Amino acid sequence: MSVQARVSRQGVIRRYREWLPEIPDGAVATIGEGETPLIEAPTLSERVGARLFLKFEGMNPTASFKDRGMTVAMSRAVATGSRACACASTGNTAASAAAYAARAGVECFVVVPAGKIALGKAVQVLAHGARIVQIEGNFDAALRLSKRIAEELGDVTLVNSVNPDRIEGQKTAAFEVAEALGNPPDALALPVGNAGNITSYWKGFREWREAGRADSVPRMLGFQAEGASPLVAGHDFESPETVASAIRIGSPASKEGALAAARDSGGLIESVTDAEILAAQEMLASEEGVFCEPASAAGVAGLLKLAGEGRGPGGTVVSVLTGHGLKDPDVILGRVQLPDPVAATFEAVAGQMRRVIA
Ligand SMILES: *Cc1c(COP(=O)(O)O)cnc(C)c1O
Repeated sequence: MSVQARVSRQGVIRRYREWLPEIPDGAVATIGEGETPLIEAPTLSERVGARLFLKFEGMNPTASFKDRGMTVAMSRAVATGSRACACASTGNTAASAAAYAARAGVECFVVVPAGKIALGKAVQVLAHGARIVQIEGNFDAALRLSKRIAEELGDVTLVNSVNPDRIEGQKTAAFEVAEALGNPPDALALPVGNAGNITSYWKGFREWREAGRADSVPRMLGFQAEGASPLVAGHDFESPETVASAIRIGSPASKEGALAAARDSGGLIESVTDAEILAAQEMLASEEGVFCEPASAAGVAGLLKLAGEGRGPGGTVVSVLTGHGLKDPDVILGRVQLPDPVAATFEAVAGQMRRVIA
């Protein structure tokens, strides 16, 4: 008797094939990325003065949006006969590359700033069996080295977002947002680090409109962390610093793409402080039940800031939550700790609960 398998998430390549570079079926490396939830956020909607939805990209296979681009980049690497891939990473690109390389049967080398990767992301890289090279330098140095390695070693595909296949795959999130809402939102808010993702969304929304699927495109609202805000300052940052490690980047590779997205959409790129980012992360977790990593909260932090200054976009707004909160447990443990144990008695346990609900 034959068993009919029904694959529930077929992955962005099969779902959006006609929008993406050509990939032979046999080369498709997918783990079921995409089709992430768009979650309405009623409490935060009131705070930001708009109908707010959260595109929770932490629900991808490796728990960040990087998977959308990685499936395309890795499949094309397979199709062109690459024997290995390499990338620089603040953590999530490495986690995603490690998983998709394992899937595709390709060697994977990731170059990361030593001691600067969130714990969950480093664990993912190790679990998938990728080789991790820690350098005594920041992300920008890691990217320079990875580019050179890919150029000089031969048959090694660079899977950073300077690889246009990454941008192509990531633009599928814009299609999903437009399909879920029936129309593109009035504004889309998201964190900006190396600036590949804002470039991808903007490309996706423009193509959606050009194909006649919608009449409008959203205003693109990009937010950098203040200590790593080269696009706001107008110059590179030598030593970028922020609690939001995924956007701790001083010289964004897709600078031009980000600036064009903000300019051409009537949007903006501004900065938010670490305190604003952590406050937004806490609100998302405690008021909406959605746990994202610090960088992912930068979009909501930005919307709260704009609303506070009477500059909120209004209408229907989507904030992209780029990665899952479980990736960075240390940030939470820096704020709250597990309490000491109590006796295993009714009195002791009920006593603890009465303190809260008395
Ligand atoms: C990569 C990443 C970002 C930044 O995206 P860019 O394309 O580099 O601007 C933001 N948040 C998370 C969780 C990420 O992994």
